[in-house]
Amino acid sequence: MNATATRSRSVTRTLRGQPTSDGAGVKLTRVIGQRDLEMLDPFLMLDEFGSDQPGDYMAGFPDHPHRGFETVTYMLAGRMRHGDNHGHSGLLTSGGAQWMTAGRGIVHSEMPEQEDGLLWGFQLWVNLPAADKMSAPHYQDITPERIPETALATGVRVRVLAGQIGDAVGPVAGIAVDPVYLDITLEAGARCTAPLPAGHNAFAYVYAGAVNLGPVESARHVMRGELAVLTRDGEEVLIAADKEPARLILVAGRPLDEPVARWGPFVMNTHEEIMQAIRDYQKGKF
Ligand code: MN
Repeated sequence: MNATATRSRSVTRTLRGQPTSDGAGVKLTRVIGQRDLEMLDPFLMLDEFGSDQPGDYMAGFPDHPHRGFETVTYMLAGRMRHGDNHGHSGLLTSGGAQWMTAGRGIVHSEMPEQEDGLLWGFQLWVNLPAADKMSAPHYQDITPERIPETALATGVRVRVLAGQIGDAVGPVAGIAVDPVYLDITLEAGARCTAPLPAGHNAFAYVYAGAVNLGPVESARHVMRGELAVLTRDGEEVLIAADKEPARLILVAGRPLDEPVARWGPFVMNTHEEIMQAIRDYQKGKF
């Protein structure tokens, strides 16, 4: 086995998301945070929302709280208005992202700002270490043009939300788990090697076409709507498109290895901290 092969990550398992609804009745697919994959430390949840039927999304996500983690929204298509109880407001547009560090607590709403057409994107929940769970809430609102796009190989483009590919540095900064968040587009038959920090947990979620993931001799075929969990060791992963173009997100984060106590929109380390979060929310302390 050569040095490259030993550094290459492979796929440990693949799975499909569960259709569900959340907020005021938005139809979505829950990929992480469901029975088949409750979490992938530090990732607590991954939802794909995508529909051109307004009835599937118009109700949106009216006021709701969060404490103890971060929510990351990446829009592939459509417009979403965000507002919170501290006076922060922003508009997410196609190709843009928002990295919200909820910290000790916010109450916010996420509402579609369109009455027809396609709304498509992802929401990822990223855990915070115990030391940061009660930090002040803050946002990184990232307009589409701030996300650099570069070539990863011939026929492969990558948008870098977080992490670094060559000279392309993602705009997301100062996040505890040192995340990588890449949106990769491969032409039919194209292949590439994507770097990943050693020791980070990582997953790929294919949202168009299909790819072969991992070393050639043990590659796994991963289709649209499937998530692949990668081995933790290794500093890169091989990605090859089929006979059609393919698109995927490739996401990695340093695992926290801390106890997780979770109740709906609150994610803390202990049950007592969850009870405190509920009391604080009910008293209007967020
Ligand atoms: Mn939310």
